Amino acid sequence: MPVICRRCLLAEMESERPLYLLMREWLAAVPPEERAEPERYEARLTACRQCDALGEGLCALCGCYVELRAAKARASCPAAPPRWMRAR
Ligand code: SF4
Repeated sequence: MPVICRRCLLAEMESERPLYLLMREWLAAVPPEERAEPERYEARLTACRQCDALGEGLCALCGCYVELRAAKARASCPAAPPRWMRAR
């Protein structure tokens, strides 16, 4: 029976390596002016790791892979209240 990682990101799941590599390509294509700064991105992912809505890299509230959602400067957490905010 496969083990479900409740707190993992795609980057940490060997079984999701192909999807992770696709995600990296997508992230590389995001224009720099639309990206969250590296510190903001890491802080967002830290918040996701501590959130009960995270499951195998997916947010149960919005259905997004959090590593993608957190990468966009103008994105925000869908929780109420949000665990992380959009950049100005
Ligand atoms: S609700 Fe917010 S903090 Fe929780 S997994 Fe989704 S995006 Fe991350």
